Amino acid sequence: MEILKNYDLTKLNTFGVKAFAKFFFELKEEKDLGGLFLSSEFKNNEKLFLGSGSNILFTKDFDGIVILNSLKGISILKEDEDFVYIRALGGEKWHDLVLFSVDNGYWGMENLSLIPGTVGATPVQNIGAYGVEIKDVLENIEAYSIEDGQKKVFSNKECEFGYRESAFKNKLKGKYFISAVVFKLHKKEKKNSDYKALQDYLKENNLEIKTSKDVSDAIIEIRRSKLPNPFVLGNAGSFFKNVYVNEEKLKELLNIFPEMPYFTEPSFTKVSEGKGGMIKIPAGFLIEMCGWKGKKVGNVGVHDKQALVIVNYGGATGEEIKKLSEDIISSVYSKFGLKLEREVNLI
Ligand SMILES: Cc1cc2nc3c(=O)[nH]c(=O)nc-3n(C[C@H](O)[C@H](O)[C@H](O)COP(=O)(O)OP(=O)(O)OC[C@H]3O[C@@H](n4cnc5c(N)ncnc54)[C@H](O)[C@@H]3O)c2cc1C
Repeated sequence: MEILKNYDLTKLNTFGVKAFAKFFFELKEEKDLGGLFLSSEFKNNEKLFLGSGSNILFTKDFDGIVILNSLKGISILKEDEDFVYIRALGGEKWHDLVLFSVDNGYWGMENLSLIPGTVGATPVQNIGAYGVEIKDVLENIEAYSIEDGQKKVFSNKECEFGYRESAFKNKLKGKYFISAVVFKLHKKEKKNSDYKALQDYLKENNLEIKTSKDVSDAIIEIRRSKLPNPFVLGNAGSFFKNVYVNEEKLKELLNIFPEMPYFTEPSFTKVSEGKGGMIKIPAGFLIEMCGWKGKKVGNVGVHDKQALVIVNYGGATGEEIKKLSEDIISSVYSKFGLKLEREVNLI
């Protein structure tokens, strides 16, 4: 077992910011966890489990041990006429698993195509896109307790999923390492293509959905046209969560800002309710209205096509990115009285 010292994390976070870990270990086999848990570097230091670093911002060096999850493996546990149960180890790339599912004709994951990151991180913030969240296909999670090294299986319900939330981001934060996830997918058609942006794309391109791969292909195209590629321009996707309000608050806001867009999530999507209510106000609109879209401040800025995305134009520090996010939060609050929450995990 090789635990490295003073390890450069620049290439292990999609913002591409420079940060060092006091200790670093790449976990390639589940059996190595035992030795890791017994090591003094693990026992005596703060721990951070890292996937692809696509939802994290290092604002300083990490004075503890970073464990890079490289556990790989996908297997079919069981299947019947209607469902298939797939177990994927946590270090698998999420999009590779989506491709595996659509190539086999299964339904359920296709709307979540091209989201960067690892399988083990997907439940942490209940990843979501185009009307689907991971909770819709997740059967259970296998996780190791950081305290005693015991393995536990969490049911979907025990994960306490919400809008970009789960128990692993709240009461169990930092307490478990997610080693594998079991997904339950449909073998028969279970289309979920009513999300407006997807519908518009299908109409514009005169496309008809016949397979889950058709949905996946469409979503890949939409995402490529809208989101900056982190390998070209450092970013972590949406930096902020959308804002959810109740009807009363919405009425108040519409009186002052009649042009404000809002969405009541259609019931078919079963997308989680946000903290403030069930009506979604796109955070991108609020940020744009405050004049941030396309704005560059030093080495950082707000993307010109997607106001939710903060980008590193090169050489930015985590502190610079954090400062920009704070300025955005305070200007949105001054104008709309709405408090933006960060989706990205700050270290
Ligand atoms: C271009 C782009 C587009 C994106 N689009 C979306 C989107 O549409 N929808 C969406 O929901 N997200 C999106 N994201 C965010 C991100 O891809 C997801 O949150 C993803 O699940 C993060 O995976 P990761 O492996 O990179 O996690 P990391 O960034 O490495 O970790 C994120 C958090 O999870 C914890 N963690 C990671 N692995 C484990 C584990 N095995 N056990 C316990 N804790 C763990 C980490 O400690 C950290 O706190 C996007 C990001 C980018 C860069």
